[in-house]
This record gives sequence, structure tokens and C-alpha cells, in this order.
Amino acid sequence: MTGTAPRAPVRTCIGCRTARPKDALLRVARTPEGVHADPSARLPGRGAYVCYDPDCLAMVRRRDGAALRRALRGPTGPEVAAALDELHDLVGHHRVPDGTVRSENA
Ligand SMILES: [Zn+2]
Repeated sequence: MTGTAPRAPVRTCIGCRTARPKDALLRVARTPEGVHADPSARLPGRGAYVCYDPDCLAMVRRRDGAALRRALRGPTGPEVAAALDELHDLVGHHRVPDGTVRSENA
């Protein structure tokens, strides 16, 4: 360890456009096998980020996932639909990888 703390990388939520530390956002990756939610941020490929917030997910879902298509440079409709369902499962239950549970009023 050196005395210099690494600066946390920041990414922008594709729903609310808020910049947050990467670790606080849910990654979505466009892999060769399709688009998948990537909560552990380990999948290869282009990534997009969304808050663990149902409101943000609702914005991402608009216009058949237009924000996600743009961020990931044009995956197909079925790929986006499948990814949105995976995101819904993760965000809908407020499950965060480190085990913390967000309050409804966050
Ligand atoms: Zn957001």
C-alpha cells in the first residue's frame, strides 16, 4: 500500500444521468452471448451502468430500452428485453452485491 488512495472510478447512470462511484451502480454488459446484468462487473464487453433504483430502471425501460441500446451501441430488441428483465429482478428486490439493503426513501 502506498499513501495514495486510488480514486474510485465514476460512471453515469443511463437512467437518471447521475454520476456515481462505479461500485454503487449495477453494470449491464453487452457480451458475445447477448446483453446481461452484471452485478459483479466481471463480464467482458461494453458496459452500461444503472442505479439500484426502480425509478432509474423505469427510465431505462422507456422506448424499448432506448437508453440501453444507445449506451451499448445497438444490441437487438430481444437482447435488450432479456437484459431489462434481469435488471428488474436485481433492482426490484433492492438486492445489492455487498448485502446492504437500500431503504425505499434513498
Ligand atoms: Zn440512476
